[in-house]
Amino acid sequence: MSVIGIDFGNESCFVAVARAGGIETIDNDYSLRATPGFVAFGERQRVLGVAAKNQAVTNLKNTIFGFKRFLGRRYDDPRVQEDVNKVPFKIVQTENGGVGIKATYLGQDQVYTPEQVSAMLFTKLKETAEHGIQAKVHDCVISVPSYFTDAERRALLDAAQISGLHVLRLINETAAAALCYGIYKQDLPEPDDKPRNVVIVDCGHSAIQVSVCAFNKGKLKVLASSADPNLGGRNFDAALAGHFCVEFRSKYGIDPENNPRAYMRLLTEVEKLKKQMSANATKLPLGIECFMEEKDVSSHMCRADFEQISASLFQRVEVVLQKCLDDSKLTLNDIHSVEIVGGSTRIPAIKLLIEKVFGKTPSTTLNQDEAVSRGCALQCA
Ligand code: ATP
Ligand code: MG
Repeated sequence: MSVIGIDFGNESCFVAVARAGGIETIDNDYSLRATPGFVAFGERQRVLGVAAKNQAVTNLKNTIFGFKRFLGRRYDDPRVQEDVNKVPFKIVQTENGGVGIKATYLGQDQVYTPEQVSAMLFTKLKETAEHGIQAKVHDCVISVPSYFTDAERRALLDAAQISGLHVLRLINETAAAALCYGIYKQDLPEPDDKPRNVVIVDCGHSAIQVSVCAFNKGKLKVLASSADPNLGGRNFDAALAGHFCVEFRSKYGIDPENNPRAYMRLLTEVEKLKKQMSANATKLPLGIECFMEEKDVSSHMCRADFEQISASLFQRVEVVLQKCLDDSKLTLNDIHSVEIVGGSTRIPAIKLLIEKVFGKTPSTTLNQDEAVSRGCALQCA
């Protein structure tokens, strides 16, 4: 029976499987490899993944996302509290001090734990895998952030169990990407030779993680890891949205921050703009029709503006990179290369910071989006 690898991302999940001598990332029912970490409750049904994300704006209060950050945490945890007033769905404290997620499902008010919501998403990923390989799936390897505590790891295991998946192993996200690197490199040093030191940087939706790994043929050792669990693409989106909220308040007399639907639409648009700015340094337009109070809004931005608005976030990126280098006790000459994965490492300013700290232009040997899931699939292949 096949073992699947799951990258459980805060925004996007990927499923991969090792078979016929290779690794395959599996498409979902929308022919996409990325399945959004979204679970939505409706009057008649529950929808998951792509379908859930697609209906988010019209079912705001019952569309749950970003729940990876709540797993194994208490309600009064600062990371949870940071989100409580920001997300459009309601988060409550459960009787035992945990996180409860409120939603109306089939006309009834319900409170779900993050484990239950994650389990719902896992059933979707399991189904995707079973459809992709045309066989039943039971065993899996799931990736977790390197900074996940025991409680967080236990909560993830519970979620997988509820969904009917048996977790053979949890593996750290950067370690999974490193495994992927090791398997494809035919020219690694012999086991007794000086290892090749490669830095892996993963900056995704909610977090940035960095590891320095020492590779020999058939051998991988993680020398040091650092992370900022509160620094990822979502923070750049929030910084951009905050900027436009101020502008729109004075320009149009509207306050998107107090209108959850408008704010959600704004987040979607600034995320698109952010991605365009990664590829293009010129001035780019942002426009939303019938945004609030039947007003159309428009503005523009260029990459330099974005870098200025996000300067404090970029400073934090540099701190995480530098900490990993310092902790590894290696000199720049000891570092062979830096591999980048995760959607947010496409931001040019982040690539420049990597180059500044490690003295190497970041390489993209790995598939930036799929490397973590593929590493998970390799782990038990
Ligand atoms: P995490 O690893 O934090 O749990 P994740 O694995 O779901 O989250 P990824 O899929 O690696 O996250 O990355 C998603 C993030 O990358 C989003 O915030 C998205 O906006 C951002 N992103 C994707 N492409 C680009 C791009 N071209 N430029 C800038 N940001 C991008
Ligand atoms: Mg990720």
